[in-house]
Amino acid sequence: MASISLRNVVKRYGHGPKANQVIHGVNAEIKDGEFIVIVGPSGCGKSTLLRMVAGLEEVSDGEIAIGTRVVNNVEPADRDIAMVFQNYALYPHMSVFENMAYGLKIKKVPLDEIKARVDKAAKILELSHLLDRKPRQLSGGQRQRVAMGRAIVRNPQVFLFDEPLSNLDAKLRAQTRLEIQKLHGELGVTSLFVTHDQVEAMTLAQRMIVMNGGHMEQIGTPEEVYSRP
Ligand code: ADP
Ligand code: ADP
Repeated sequence: MASISLRNVVKRYGHGPKANQVIHGVNAEIKDGEFIVIVGPSGCGKSTLLRMVAGLEEVSDGEIAIGTRVVNNVEPADRDIAMVFQNYALYPHMSVFENMAYGLKIKKVPLDEIKARVDKAAKILELSHLLDRKPRQLSGGQRQRVAMGRAIVRNPQVFLFDEPLSNLDAKLRAQTRLEIQKLHGELGVTSLFVTHDQVEAMTLAQRMIVMNGGHMEQIGTPEEVYSRP
């Protein structure tokens, strides 16, 4: 687990006079273990902010720290983060176990350690009885959980969720939301969750960052944010 500091974070796309500034000096201190939702309308910069924390976009100005380490120049793979996307393709020819284990194998994690991590993640996600199945033999919700399992086994300090619920039907969305809450309850990993859906934001957030036009308009608990005139 780790805190995340955003210090006057600026993002510009392009250079010189034609540069388009899409994030305007965001400051926030996210505590160890907190679940933060970044919410706001389409195009307000949520995804860009998340991708800068992930290291998938460069920071134009300012600083991002994970724990005490400034990560502006740290490769995504070395940031101790795991990202959960809205479309995560599972490998169709691999079993659930192999899908969850693959990234660790590549990193040469010893097999008994891989087994222990996959077993632990499978237990949390109620996938233990499905480890031998192929993705096509799973329901949509189960596939979603395998994708989360792939993030969990990395033992990240931070989870980054990029609208992971937006392509699901209402029932699956509610179910997956509960899964994510349970996951956070059990692992307590610092989480940043991006959504344009206010209801989703209110239900999941311990604190929320409200973005508008690249500015951070508010940061606070859902009660604080929605009680403001
Ligand atoms: P959100 O996630 O809130 O929908 P984004 O972070 O995707 O918003 O986008 C914020 C702004 O940055 C938008 O105006 C978008 O058009 C612009 N933008 C996003 N990615 C790029 C890019 N690769 N090049 C240029 N502009 C971009
Ligand atoms: P694969 O992406 O093929 O499953 P790896 O785990 O080796 O295999 O990932 C390749 C690269 O992508 C590495 O830099 C790794 O750190 C990064 N990566 C893979 N999965 C995630 C994830 N869920 N979140 C963040 N980075 C990831």
